[in-house]
Amino acid sequence: MQRRDFLRQCARWAAAAPLASLAASLPAGSLLAAGSLLGCGTGPGYGTGEYDFDVNFDGRVLVIGAGAAGLAAGYMLGRHGIEYTVLEASDRFGGRVKRDRTLAGFPIDLGAEWIHDHPSVLASLIDDPGLDATLDVVPFAPQDISYRTDGGVRAFNVARNFMVDYKFRRTTWYGFLERFIAPTVQPHIRFGQPVTAIDTRGSGVRVATDDGTTYEADRVILTVPIQILQERQIEFTPPLDATRTDAIDSVWIPHGIKVFSRFDARFYPDVLLNGDPLDDASTDKLYYDATLGKGVSEHVLALFWVADEAAAFTELGSDDAIVSAVLADLDGLFGGRASRHHIASVAQNWSADPYIRGAYSSDFAGGYDAFMAALADPFAERVFFAGEAFGGTESSTVHGAMQSAYAAVERLLAG
Ligand SMILES: Cc1cc2nc3c(=O)[nH]c(=O)nc-3n(C[C@H](O)[C@H](O)[C@H](O)COP(=O)(O)OP(=O)(O)OC[C@H]3O[C@@H](n4cnc5c(N)ncnc54)[C@H](O)[C@@H]3O)c2cc1C
Repeated sequence: MQRRDFLRQCARWAAAAPLASLAASLPAGSLLAAGSLLGCGTGPGYGTGEYDFDVNFDGRVLVIGAGAAGLAAGYMLGRHGIEYTVLEASDRFGGRVKRDRTLAGFPIDLGAEWIHDHPSVLASLIDDPGLDATLDVVPFAPQDISYRTDGGVRAFNVARNFMVDYKFRRTTWYGFLERFIAPTVQPHIRFGQPVTAIDTRGSGVRVATDDGTTYEADRVILTVPIQILQERQIEFTPPLDATRTDAIDSVWIPHGIKVFSRFDARFYPDVLLNGDPLDDASTDKLYYDATLGKGVSEHVLALFWVADEAAAFTELGSDDAIVSAVLADLDGLFGGRASRHHIASVAQNWSADPYIRGAYSSDFAGGYDAFMAALADPFAERVFFAGEAFGGTESSTVHGAMQSAYAAVERLLAG
């Protein structure tokens, strides 16, 4: 579920939202439909013109990266009539938002899965009163919670009182982007274009990709993962100053992996924490029932592991080896039942993705304010930074990544 783990997340919810308790108290299957939440326009910015920015700019923009932030940047630039192109290294959009349709009869989120905010944030992100945002959102409220101890598995159901989050019921984060954000952006995306160089000498910006193509624009919105910048995969001319590179290097991005396994029987709790539940680290690695709230009859258990220790799985070398390690882990906990009931698995090793290279920003050595202060102003007044790490209090989330892109577009358009 993200390092923004169950326990801390729930504390946040408990503090913030009477609606969360309302949602949690709804019987299973009584859909907390986004139609009711989103359609009534209670969310901040829904149709209020929050993103109707002043435009004092009439040039061309290059957006680098087509994850949630890059798509959002394109969506908002298009809405304001700005000419733009999105350069994406891989052959698909979404980045750390990715969907699998092969494992089960329902779509699975291989990356971002939970809506770590009030669900009305979805309407706010779309910000179009003309759209019927009838997405279905359900509370994720596990009842059967256990944790792993030296001696096996022990119940910890008291946690059900403060574990509430939200998920899509029939769609996914990818489905959300695909339906509401990507349609107008897709024609502007050039896939298979890993950016290798950004040159800000002269008046505009020249951006080179690894096949030697050069693109020119007046401004750039850079949304690649921080890890890509830490690895200096993109060369800046003139180089980024030390203040910016120090800030980039100050971010801790742990390894990240998710593995979904389908079984022909259920032998596991709703959630299995890894160790003492009162220790934050217990939620860096956890197993959870991926069907919870989705109204399906299949048995799909997921592993979420975002931590340096996840290297024990991410560095195994192949997805088959990772799946074997997961089954061995579960067999040890459940007396061999994982292997006996296993049908198929899908592993998503985010650390091994050449254009992602890890999970998400999880700590900032010099403090978050210093990070933002160093990178808030556009480099050479033309290269704007956006993406999950720039999401402020919502960093390391999808909606935070999108909001950071909207903020970058607003600043860019201000001229
Ligand atoms: C395991 C895991 C679980 C998560 N769970 C949740 C969750 O439940 N809820 C939630 O809200 N968030 C979750 N997140 C976080 C969320 O996925 C991210 O915060 C968000 O998707 C990041 O969006 P982004 O656009 O900033 O970056 P990305 O999605 O990483 O997009 C960056 C894009 O840049 C491209 N790129 C990289 N290098 C180059 C280059 N040189 N040239 C061109 N393109 C390049 C990449 O291919 C990618 O498409 C999770 C993340 C992980 C890894």
